[in-house]
Amino acid sequence: MGRRPTALVTGVTGQDGSFLAEQLLADGWRVVGVQRRSASPNPWRIAHLGDRLERASADLLDLGSLLSVIQQVRPDHVYNLAAQSFVPTSWEQPLLTGEVTALGAARVLEAVRLGWPQARVYQAGSSEMFGLARGSAQNEQTPFHPRSPYGVAKVYAHHLAVNYRESHGLFVVGGILFNHESERRGEEFVTRKISRAAARIKLGLQQHLQLGAMDVRRDWGFAGDYTRAMRLMLEQDEPQDLVIATGQDWSVQDFAERAFAELGLRWQDHVRHDPGLLRPAEIQRLCGDASEARRRLGWAPEIDFDGLVRRMVRADLAREGR
Ligand code: NAP
Repeated sequence: MGRRPTALVTGVTGQDGSFLAEQLLADGWRVVGVQRRSASPNPWRIAHLGDRLERASADLLDLGSLLSVIQQVRPDHVYNLAAQSFVPTSWEQPLLTGEVTALGAARVLEAVRLGWPQARVYQAGSSEMFGLARGSAQNEQTPFHPRSPYGVAKVYAHHLAVNYRESHGLFVVGGILFNHESERRGEEFVTRKISRAAARIKLGLQQHLQLGAMDVRRDWGFAGDYTRAMRLMLEQDEPQDLVIATGQDWSVQDFAERAFAELGLRWQDHVRHDPGLLRPAEIQRLCGDASEARRRLGWAPEIDFDGLVRRMVRADLAREGR
């Protein structure tokens, strides 16, 4: 039997890592997920994958650990999804965010260059790199103007990925992904915070939900659609950085309105404004233009905004009802 195509996924315990691992395993790939050591490991997003998902211990802060895993696994694809990924935390812990989200990506690239340079590498970039963006929709030509230490760290990682492609000839792509959500999203992120609170309010477990800015607009897609795009990006003939987005933007209020309405509730009766949750520097609106990805990859999202909100609320209702 020939060698199965092999993927190494950092951040496998996160939202995107779990969807990506699931999809690759379903298509017959060998998947090795990088997990860092934790005193309280709780990999609930990947528990259902059992032994089919292999685990390797490494940390983005430790080049040696990454190098040794890459040399052992010799992957065809490396997906660098690990990051300190929560924007508000990046103001509280800007140096840690830089160490993990920026220099961590540098360590992954170095480990590939030194240990197994034939691997194709996906670097998880973000629409937060656009920040104070110009134009009505952002595409691959839009200049970056990040507005948080997280955005700045992602810009560094993205430019370094491009640089490793240009200076070392590695097959590296930078995905510029707009917000994507699911029932596996971390509870601190605003969409999941809303879907979970709406479910808990419906069940009488909580009365109110505190939110910061309600009028900021984001282009929200479904995480499983976006992880499909990551793999397609590594299967291109030539490496190219691409924007992945739905092309439609919605406000936080739109999300809350739909989430509460799904349960027969009015958001106005339960949402309280908390100025303490406002960001030091906000991004008012982000909306992506993924026409290049549609053209080159044939990629299109399958789940729309209403479907996404419904899916998240129903999952939280089932979870909280247990
Ligand atoms: P997530 O749920 O926050 O997952 C982050 C992952 O990184 C977790 O598995 C975490 O492990 C791991 N990690 C953190 N620090 C680490 C370290 N020092 N060493 C090794 N692993 C470490 O993020 P996500 O939503 O899946 O996003 C995946 C990637 O895409 C991230 O890089 C994110 O910044 C980027 N991105 C996300 C979005 C979005 O809307 N979701 C949009 C654009 C870009 P633990 O479980 O141990 O904490």
